[in-house]
Amino acid sequence: MSNIAWPLYPPAYLGILGGGQLGRYFVQAAQDLGYQVCVLDPDPNSPAGQIAQEHLLAQYDDEDALHHMAQLCDAISTEFENVPANTIDYLIKQGVFVAPKSFAVSIAQNRIKEKEFLKICQSLMGIGPVDYAVIANDDQLKTVQESLFPGILKTAQLGYDGKGQQRVHNINELKQAWKTLGKVSCVLEKKLDLAFELSAIIARGDNDETHLLPIAQNIHENGILHLSMVPAPNLTKELQEKIHLAAHTIIRQLEYVGVLCIEFFVLKDGSLVVNEIAPRPHNSGHHTLDSCLTNQFEQQVRSLAKLPLGNSGLLSPVVMLNILGDIWFDKNTNDIRSPDWEKIFAMPYAKLHLYGKAEPKIGRKMGHINFIADSVDQALVDAKHAMDILGILSSRQ
Ligand code: ADP
Ligand code: MG
Repeated sequence: MSNIAWPLYPPAYLGILGGGQLGRYFVQAAQDLGYQVCVLDPDPNSPAGQIAQEHLLAQYDDEDALHHMAQLCDAISTEFENVPANTIDYLIKQGVFVAPKSFAVSIAQNRIKEKEFLKICQSLMGIGPVDYAVIANDDQLKTVQESLFPGILKTAQLGYDGKGQQRVHNINELKQAWKTLGKVSCVLEKKLDLAFELSAIIARGDNDETHLLPIAQNIHENGILHLSMVPAPNLTKELQEKIHLAAHTIIRQLEYVGVLCIEFFVLKDGSLVVNEIAPRPHNSGHHTLDSCLTNQFEQQVRSLAKLPLGNSGLLSPVVMLNILGDIWFDKNTNDIRSPDWEKIFAMPYAKLHLYGKAEPKIGRKMGHINFIADSVDQALVDAKHAMDILGILSSRQ
């Protein structure tokens, strides 16, 4: 559609593929600016669908739904990283501005492609992916290097929150794990001795303008993000510079427009490696909802509408604590009941966010709390207090 006037101003319609909590915040950020939003998601109770002007209840390859979306929206983004590449390409053919494009999304969707891409970037940015081997057939299984043990076998596609991963200590366990994962294409990664984990969220506009959001230090429990601390307590100037270069290299090499997250590991020997890329805003950036003038979702909206990016400099130290469905289950009876929000609302610097998910499940992300304080240490004290109230357990206490 060559007759679209850019940037798109409100009340234009923007579209989002996927209706989870990330999509919900995209809708809120867009609506705050006066845009209207159409969500495509097959789930009738999707968090984003509940609040959008229009919710298309259809699969991601439903041509009628995609056609309708293309008629309504001049620009469409994604929040769900497993949107089929064909969906994005179909919308582009209909004249819609889609950001990010399928080239970038398909790399981030597949750990094998992602690691090959990161190896190409390595010469430009000086750091690379975790040591790995592709396990997609029996021969690759037999020839795997002993140095990758102990390792983590990860499915190449559709893994999230630690799902689709198995720890393996030797070739026999690897064989068994690959069978358990259904003999699908996998990568075997060496299990590294992590000192800490960092993530960088970066936004890029269609005009190549970039903005790196504050780097977060993240603690995972059982493969799921538990909490994020910003400013990252262990971030040195040297790490900051390396991450700055890596984030800019990766987003430009992917020709990526929108908001992208890159997860990093810092090893006990001080070295930095790239873990993975998420082609969307990220859970570790949820603190920006309360700690930055422009949150990560508004940056997604701005880049999609081809507006200038906003400023996401940190206004205050913050800790983000994830809330999983686990705390809805009574420890004694296992009955489902509501957590004790009263005491959380009584904490004046705790900002509670719930995603509108009807059914709590173990390990399901239901919401998060941002703790705003004068220092990360103070925010951690408040987070610990909230964890005690809510019965959130951490292996690190
Ligand atoms: P997901 O796609 O589920 O986020 P990740 O590959 O990021 O999967 O793994 C989730 C978490 O598991 C990481 O944040 C890290 O804590 C741990 N982990 C993953 N891979 C490794 C590894 N090779 N060595 C050590 N820890 C790892
Ligand atoms: Mg991850």
